[in-house]
Amino acid sequence: MSSFKIIPGDPDSHVILHVPHSSREIPSRVRTGILLDDAQLKLELDEMTDSHTDQLAYESAKIAGKQPWIFINELSRLVIDPERFPDDREAMNSVGMGAVYHKNSHGLKLRTSEFDQELLDKYFHPYALAIEALVNERLLALNRCLIIDVHSYRPIAHANSMNKDDLRPAICIGTDPFHTSRSLYESARSAFAFIGDIVENQPYSGTYVPLKHYEKDARVEAIMMEIRADTFLDDVLTPTCGLAQIVAGLQQLVRSAST
Ligand SMILES: [Zn+2]
Repeated sequence: MSSFKIIPGDPDSHVILHVPHSSREIPSRVRTGILLDDAQLKLELDEMTDSHTDQLAYESAKIAGKQPWIFINELSRLVIDPERFPDDREAMNSVGMGAVYHKNSHGLKLRTSEFDQELLDKYFHPYALAIEALVNERLLALNRCLIIDVHSYRPIAHANSMNKDDLRPAICIGTDPFHTSRSLYESARSAFAFIGDIVENQPYSGTYVPLKHYEKDARVEAIMMEIRADTFLDDVLTPTCGLAQIVAGLQQLVRSAST
């Protein structure tokens, strides 16, 4: 099983929709290292998975005019989290949720650390290299690249989160001082304004950029859309009519960035 999938976009599109957290898939060998029974694992995946964000990307890409590229993680973030730093820079290490999670959303032990290196070698590093290569390819073709990082988050902060005192708006826009221009931020605000309240960098901040380009290559722009899950999913994580609105917002952002 490949751990990620790239869906090609228009050769003239510099936009990549990155979907890192939508999958619930865990390879059987990795499953055996997770210290939860099946019922507990289902609850953990309900809490931690950005459910249906892959659908948001697919549907918005189809109607965005110039079709963006899609890079999607086909494995659960409980295997590896591709958006964490794989080293001491990662603040989430302090709560056991770095590149390889050792704790679950309740702060309880999720796995031992004996397979960390294997997980990083088998899944984290190949993923990082593949998205870096896709960014390089877009740069080579068009001399610019925009990564739109597509996430959702739960209405109520989980027990092991580090942002319990932050606001939890309908839409959180994650920005980076080096990679997110103000005009890109404003485009995202106006594309999603009709959904509800929008806050920058709360409860999640920053946005994903491959480490090779991070704070080095200004041709790589990036922005993170964190969509509060109750704007498009019901209590059992089934899409509501709100999903079409989020898709409309996302395709609007892709369109405005593509001009
Ligand atoms: Zn996420």
